[in-house]
Amino acid sequence: MEDDRKVIGFAEIVPRLQYWTTIAQVLDKQKPLLSKAGNRYQKLTLIDNQGITVEAMIYKSDIEFFRNHFNLYKRYMISNARVEYTPLEYRAHENQCTWYIDNSTIVQAIDEASPPEIPSVFTFTPFRRFYQHIDDTSDIDTLGIVAQVHPRNHRGPTPTREIVIIDNSFMPVILTLWGEHETDEGQTIANIIQSMPLIVALRVKVSSYHTLNLSTKFGSSILVNPPIQQGASLKQWAVENKSQITELIAQKAYCDRAKLLPQPSEDELCTIADFLKFPTKKAYWIQGTPRFLDRSQHLWYNACSNCHKSFRAKPLWKIVCTSCNKQVNVVPRCRLTIELADYSGMLTLDLYDNDAEQLLPFTLLEIQELEDKHQLNYIAIEQAIENTILTCFVKKMMGNRGSGDTEKYTAIIVHKANAPEIISKIPTTPASIATSSTCASSTPGPSTAEAVPKHSTFDSELFTALKITESPTKRQRTDVTDMEQ
Ligand SMILES: [Zn+2]
Repeated sequence: MEDDRKVIGFAEIVPRLQYWTTIAQVLDKQKPLLSKAGNRYQKLTLIDNQGITVEAMIYKSDIEFFRNHFNLYKRYMISNARVEYTPLEYRAHENQCTWYIDNSTIVQAIDEASPPEIPSVFTFTPFRRFYQHIDDTSDIDTLGIVAQVHPRNHRGPTPTREIVIIDNSFMPVILTLWGEHETDEGQTIANIIQSMPLIVALRVKVSSYHTLNLSTKFGSSILVNPPIQQGASLKQWAVENKSQITELIAQKAYCDRAKLLPQPSEDELCTIADFLKFPTKKAYWIQGTPRFLDRSQHLWYNACSNCHKSFRAKPLWKIVCTSCNKQVNVVPRCRLTIELADYSGMLTLDLYDNDAEQLLPFTLLEIQELEDKHQLNYIAIEQAIENTILTCFVKKMMGNRGSGDTEKYTAIIVHKANAPEIISKIPTTPASIATSSTCASSTPGPSTAEAVPKHSTFDSELFTALKITESPTKRQRTDVTDMEQ
């Protein structure tokens, strides 16, 4: 009998359709995972020549059965996979279907020298927007050039490797590969690092580890040199800027905290009152004046020099850290607890390392020596701290000190400015003052006495100033409304 197979596109393939054939290119092939019920499954993302994608699942022993099929970016002729509507909770669009590929599905590799280019189906997060995902539950897809690979490491039994990726924002960032992502793609990348490979990192996490770090998780995928349309211009950029990239790597710019989380623009700031109201763990930029809290606070503690886990130890003990598994020295780490206030409210905030030390009039060593002699001048510390304005990227954490669940706030980075400098920069034209007073009168006053701290004269000037910096945004909003009317 004659082969009457007719090739159709993904859009036509619906549940209960019989005897269909399509051509699918493998866009993504995740590592096999374990379902909650304990079944192994592997998820593929396939794409047709119309740029339509579909997710396909392979289960249990069929994963092994298809081990030589579904190579990344290759095209296959597929007939009669089982097709079902995607369960509602996983559905990204209406009528979305999932294919179930088992050993009765016909899968045939297409013999071609190189696969066609993949159209723009990904939405990549630009490097400058990574910070918006720090320590929250979302994951991101990103596109970058690998500029450097670090040697393989181990976290317990799990192999890890840091690779440094960069895009045309000239901000190199560390991506940590875990487990099979290291032994497979990590090793592949290491072998071809001289060629500055292009990678697509799918479903990776952004964390505040060492300020800003990307890392793979179980469901992530790392695509090495994928034939995607979006890659060509970035590869070109890397070739043209090779010397500058090399220089950034030599300077270890990926460790430069001020480059990873630079001072935000005015419209990226959020008020303390709003920040406190947000229910999520997400980190936000806030700005305010600090006040030294609690003159009995201890300004340092002993910690792992690598991961900052605290230990009851003497400084300079050599230990194997129970948290990061590295052979490390115990080092003193600066910690400072302040109260940060803006015109809307206040919170208690923990600062660490340089973020804390930059506010103190003494070095950590001096503090330790003065403490030993019971001569630490807390008034000098108080004064040094209170003459500044801090712009802080702050995250909420659940505190586990003492009883009960209390929210704790930690600064991921702190940019310091001198208060008089900022005030002098704020325009005090009649217009802005007028707007500011209009805004102030329309804003309801604090509902409780605790909501706003008691101001010194200096603070009230400053809060007025901070209100003025708020006004341009509000004015713009009014302007838009005016235009509409
Ligand atoms: Zn450690």
